[in-house]
Amino acid sequence: MRCERVAIDGSMGEGGGQVLRSSLTLALVTGRSLNVENIRAGRKKPGLLRQHLSAVRAAAEVGQAEVRGGELGSQKIEFVPGAVVPGEYRFSIGSAGSATLVLQTVLPALLTASGPSKIVLEGGTHNPMAPPFEFLEKSFLPCVRRMGPRVEATLDRPGFYPAGGGAFAVAIEPVERLESFDLLERGKTTKKIARAIVANLPLDIGDRELEKVRELLTWDRRELCVEEFTDAAGSGNVLILELHGEHVTQVVTGFGERRASAHSVAERAVRELRRYLTSDIPVDEHLADQLLLPLALAKRGTFRTVRPSSHTRTNIDVIRSFLDIDVKLTEKAHDEFIIELQTNETAKHVKE
Ligand code: AMP
Repeated sequence: MRCERVAIDGSMGEGGGQVLRSSLTLALVTGRSLNVENIRAGRKKPGLLRQHLSAVRAAAEVGQAEVRGGELGSQKIEFVPGAVVPGEYRFSIGSAGSATLVLQTVLPALLTASGPSKIVLEGGTHNPMAPPFEFLEKSFLPCVRRMGPRVEATLDRPGFYPAGGGAFAVAIEPVERLESFDLLERGKTTKKIARAIVANLPLDIGDRELEKVRELLTWDRRELCVEEFTDAAGSGNVLILELHGEHVTQVVTGFGERRASAHSVAERAVRELRRYLTSDIPVDEHLADQLLLPLALAKRGTFRTVRPSSHTRTNIDVIRSFLDIDVKLTEKAHDEFIIELQTNETAKHVKE
């Protein structure tokens, strides 16, 4: 029986916003009511910040839910979902909080909804502790498209800390059932791009970052591009390195900071990309924790990844609180794991 209310302790494992967001997503797709206590108890400023409150409100709107405790600072909510309604939505965070994380909260429910959706999200699009827009667009969404739905995201303008005010639009054509997939190899590299986004700052910051990338990685000039935004709400700079593979794209970001030189921003991003390049593992730490939910909803899937982060382990526990799913982590080598998901229903079927 799966109709009782799900009680989630927000302090479990990683104890951050993902416990709440994944619980909301799962409440939407299963239609089960949810209580979350100790929200973000593991963080310096616990409770709902604007980004998390926006996720609660977005989930409530998409799922016609009744919510108790949906206020800033709240450490406890009750969420009673109704039916998931596809359509046109606009979600505004009202701060530089991550808009990509708000999208990821409602997206799974809309992938199998009864009709298409168009969503505009406003807030932070490039945050150091969340998927930057290009990660969403180039790394995460192509995996979602492999499952059948058509999902396209378009950046209108970037939003950086502290001003926020970025915006992107997402169009979703749903399917009846999500197909699963296996992601065990990267495949051949098909394209490399180093992109420097410069918003309301001197353009040469981007030029210098890209020059350093070219020097360190010996990439061709045609693989470098600066994107200037003069209509952003505030100023900001981010360097994005994209490594497109046949089966997966890796996106690494380096954020410009007031006291960091353009060279050091580039060096840091290159160091991170080199770490990825020295192994052949397709799924990085971040994509790993983000693929779990869609694959669990598809009822099975396998991917090869690095040592699971605490986000990954905690997300598995949240998913298990809602779904009867078997998640197997197999250590293949020092920093190499296979993660296999299979609903117990599917497992039984395969055994028979
Ligand atoms: P939380 O800290 O609980 O709010 O969750 C943060 C989410 O953002 C997790 O899914 C992380 O994997 C993801 N994330 C953090 N940094 C990055 C990054 N640089 N690229 C992609 N995803 C990220």
